[in-house]
Amino acid sequence: MSEQHQNLAIIGHVDHGKSTLVGRLLYETGSVPEHVIEQHREEAEEKGKGGFEFAYVMDNLAEERERGVTIDIAHQEFSTDEYDFTIVDCPGHRDFVKNMITGASQADNAVLVVAADDGVAPQTQEHVFLARTLGIDELIIGVNKMDVVDYKESTFDEVVDEVNQLLQQVQFNTDDASFIPISAFEGDNIAEASDNTDWYDGEILLEALNALPEPEPPTDASLRLPIQDVYTISGIGTVPVGRIETGIMNTGDDVVFQPSDVGGEVKTIEMHHEEVPKAEPGDNVGFNVRGIGKDDIRRGDVCGPADDPPKVAETFQAQIVVMQHPSVITSGYTPVFHAHTAQVACTIESIDKKMDPSSGEVAEENPDFIQSGDAAVVTIRPQKPLSIEPSSEIPELGSFAIRDMGQTIAAGKVLEVNE
Ligand code: GDP
Repeated sequence: MSEQHQNLAIIGHVDHGKSTLVGRLLYETGSVPEHVIEQHREEAEEKGKGGFEFAYVMDNLAEERERGVTIDIAHQEFSTDEYDFTIVDCPGHRDFVKNMITGASQADNAVLVVAADDGVAPQTQEHVFLARTLGIDELIIGVNKMDVVDYKESTFDEVVDEVNQLLQQVQFNTDDASFIPISAFEGDNIAEASDNTDWYDGEILLEALNALPEPEPPTDASLRLPIQDVYTISGIGTVPVGRIETGIMNTGDDVVFQPSDVGGEVKTIEMHHEEVPKAEPGDNVGFNVRGIGKDDIRRGDVCGPADDPPKVAETFQAQIVVMQHPSVITSGYTPVFHAHTAQVACTIESIDKKMDPSSGEVAEENPDFIQSGDAAVVTIRPQKPLSIEPSSEIPELGSFAIRDMGQTIAAGKVLEVNE
């Protein structure tokens, strides 16, 4: 086990091989969950067989998926020489975007799986847009199912070109993207260089994963703790709970909740049913603040230090990417914004600029409308107080999803907050 931790997203079009790749990574790194090994041992003993096979891992993942348990590949863990990886919720799963934004599954880096026999497909595009907007740092591109295209270098090159174009369109830094010809199913170039691709001498997948930059723990930033729920616990009183996104919380700290605009001194902090003097980013905590009652605060509030309180936006400017909207978006449109744990109806007050996706330059000032596939800078007015931060200052609290008609129609990053 290594010390450093990475949250990894596996993104890509349906059927391009995401689950198979996760199974392969678990298998190759010897990180198959204990209960799977246990179950296999029993079955193997009954049948008088030993050994542990990739096919078994896949059967097991498929079975879990059928039973609806733990949404299959999400939240699996594996370790390499450098990192402990947690696979976070994957796009395609219900609520992925929402989870990604509420911090339930904040990925540091991502592996984009593109099937060699299919190339860039609609969800490839959508997920790359999203990864870019939500601040994924680096992409590793696994050009998968190379076995299906007879390990042909020319097919690999074609897919690389296609993906490169897409990355440039959304202004991903293509210098940092690595492309690897793989077969998740056959195991080519995952843990060992494959003889089937003797024309390729670049990194294999595990090497590329080891070479990812270390995620910076956001401990230096100011405390930001979005409130998930508020409980009343006898003997303690009001206990807001949530996950610390940035900064440190110590008992004795003076904190405020915004936008509810109340505050006090932190009396106790609890984590995993134990009292702790201090909690850090990533910790799920329940805590108690002197003088705060259950009705004073609510889900969607953000707790921060009294001397550097969370911002409350009168309006804010944001860069958004429209992923899927059946018609056009014009100013005055008021969908629900999901930002950290808050859900607030917000009006798109003005569409300030439309960007050219291929150059990132302004394509049109004050366009009349935007539609699916467009990137734009917009001014937004929350209909109720909303605590949100510029993404450049506190990225963890600077992104949001826009939902309407039961689906995520856009995702965005906050550029500026006008309090
Ligand atoms: P997901 O929807 O992206 O998670 O895709 P799956 O992992 O479920 O894979 C979809 C199908 O493609 C399954 O039938 C897999 O067995 C198959 N598949 C995945 N990776 C490979 C590969 O590298 N080679 C071949 N031949 N088939 C693959």
